[in-house]
Amino acid sequence: MRGSRASAVVLAMVLTTFVAAEPSLPAVAGPADPEPASLVTLTVPDRAALERLVGSGADLTGRVRPQPDGSIRVDAVVTPSRLAELRPLGATLATGTPAPAPEHRGGTKDRIVVERAVWFQSRDGYFLSVEASSSAGADAALTVTWKGRGGATGQVEMVPYVDAGAYLGHQFSVPVPAGVRPDRVTITSAAGGVAEARVGEWPDGERPDRDRPGYQKDFITQYMPPAQLNARVKDLHRRFPALTEIIELPHLTNGYRRHAQALIGTPPGAAVVVTSRAYGSEGGNDLAVELSDPGAADRTLAVVVDGKQVRVSLATDGSGAPVSTAAEVAAAITGAPGSPVTAATYRTDPGAGVLAPAPLTQLSDFLGAPADVSREPWRVLALRIGTHRDGSRTGVLAYAQEHAREWVTPLVTIEAAERLLRNYPRDPATRKLLRRADIFIVPTVNPDGANYSFYDFNAQRKNMTNHCPAAQSDPALRNTWGVDVNRNYAVGSLFDGYFGASANCQSGTYAGPGEHSEPESRNVIWLAETYPNIRFALNVHSYGGYFMWPPGAYRLDGRVTLPRPSRQQEAYFLRSARTILEAIAAERGTVTWPQQTGPVTDVLYSAAGNSADELWYDHGVYGWDFEVGSDLWNPRTGAWEGVGFQPPFAEGHAEAMEFAAGLISLIGVAADYREDR
Ligand SMILES: [Zn+2]
Repeated sequence: MRGSRASAVVLAMVLTTFVAAEPSLPAVAGPADPEPASLVTLTVPDRAALERLVGSGADLTGRVRPQPDGSIRVDAVVTPSRLAELRPLGATLATGTPAPAPEHRGGTKDRIVVERAVWFQSRDGYFLSVEASSSAGADAALTVTWKGRGGATGQVEMVPYVDAGAYLGHQFSVPVPAGVRPDRVTITSAAGGVAEARVGEWPDGERPDRDRPGYQKDFITQYMPPAQLNARVKDLHRRFPALTEIIELPHLTNGYRRHAQALIGTPPGAAVVVTSRAYGSEGGNDLAVELSDPGAADRTLAVVVDGKQVRVSLATDGSGAPVSTAAEVAAAITGAPGSPVTAATYRTDPGAGVLAPAPLTQLSDFLGAPADVSREPWRVLALRIGTHRDGSRTGVLAYAQEHAREWVTPLVTIEAAERLLRNYPRDPATRKLLRRADIFIVPTVNPDGANYSFYDFNAQRKNMTNHCPAAQSDPALRNTWGVDVNRNYAVGSLFDGYFGASANCQSGTYAGPGEHSEPESRNVIWLAETYPNIRFALNVHSYGGYFMWPPGAYRLDGRVTLPRPSRQQEAYFLRSARTILEAIAAERGTVTWPQQTGPVTDVLYSAAGNSADELWYDHGVYGWDFEVGSDLWNPRTGAWEGVGFQPPFAEGHAEAMEFAAGLISLIGVAADYREDR
């Protein structure tokens, strides 16, 4: 049997399914409209090319899949122009089935070491995953032959895994279906090396207790924007005052708000971008700008601020024709006494073109949320759960939605909170957890970005704060602004020379103007600083089905990672992971793949300045990352398929159920921590 192939589904549909109502989009895209963005699967020829994508600040998802021919497929959010920029780096849209592994020449006989050979049983049957290394390195061509019950057998080609130039071994591109439970594997190299191994079970951790009469679950009914999440947190506190408290995190976000803008004229040369000094919600949306022809010869350029209207009278020549350039008008608008707006030429254009008269044009912040969605700076809430909330118990922090578009992730935390509180009266195991652990739950770290994702641009990843200069701040670029909250932390950061974050304010992984520049990241660290009993943290992301821990970043030169945890600590991470993955699998038979369980830098890619690294290295907190939303096996096509950021709610609901169970299992690991030491 050959390895199954990740399907080449173009996932744009997954996103467009959940585009929120867009109340005021014009029928025809104009120069002030953002380019459409799509979630697509890209192919790059090798790991080095993937690294170029990471280095360029591309908006990649966590779904990275090596292919038998050495190429790599990765899901990404792209606009047409961003895709055009990625093509010279080696990226193309994935189509069809990748080519099989090339024939390798024979060479000196190599030595093969089997790192891990495991089977798992998901709801779709038995699957096999093997990792091995060859002394011949990435050039080795390795084939796995497996044997199972009743004489069943199959063959799978392995793919080399090379990251930042370092050979990390061979693995399967994806786990392959085996039909029966595989017992033994033989790995043969084209160069002559052979190794054999027994196939172990995965995840093979402590099984959750299934016999819990009356245990309640399933408390979520829809995707929830931030206002609903906060309301739910407050409601839980009202209903369970003895078991909970609400912590108001100290750093207000900037708020779901923007300055109001208008693009007037014909870009690039004969246009100005007008921007209100006040936020749109604080008067900016009431402003309007007019460029008028004075109707007489030899007039000079004049700007009159008349209440909420900025009236520009264009200069004329001897024949009465307007002659003011965009640059002249921009300077005059900005410099007019009492001007409520500033103006700039279009992007990097010097603005030498002559502006035509333009009728009174209303400015807009282009925000589509209903008026009852607050435009004020946002108070992020944590719900603290436990019977002893005095710092005497091991603290566990679960925080979700650093990335705005990951709509399933807050549901994981809400579902877990509900299960803990509602089962407390009747379930002894839950009571024991709440007596032994001190739980901090933050359903949404990035509420402003989340609102933008719900109401304006559902592929939004970052927060809403625009740090771009005027040349990158015309309204058509508004979907590219913001800081990647999970690249804004202070350990292993871009500013320290680590790889996997961008200095470009428009990039998907923009690190911000400095470490901790954003209130969203400061809030997370504030929790770790204020509650030193927090020893475990779970950063919930989507999608792709990963369970990861530090290190999460390396310097590109020589792939020098942040220090690896000690051997005992790594063993503890892995042992705990096996238990937590059992709890996830018990919900609906979803098994997180072994090759997607491990340190971030080993199983995904470098992410400079992420929160788990700061929690681990600066605060001694075991910092884990979930990427919820494992691929779904499609038996019809024989392929694993990605679920996307906002799957139909039935799927999002199932993901929340299984990862809430995982979070509760992690809380159990934390509660046992004292004894473990
Ligand atoms: Zn994320």
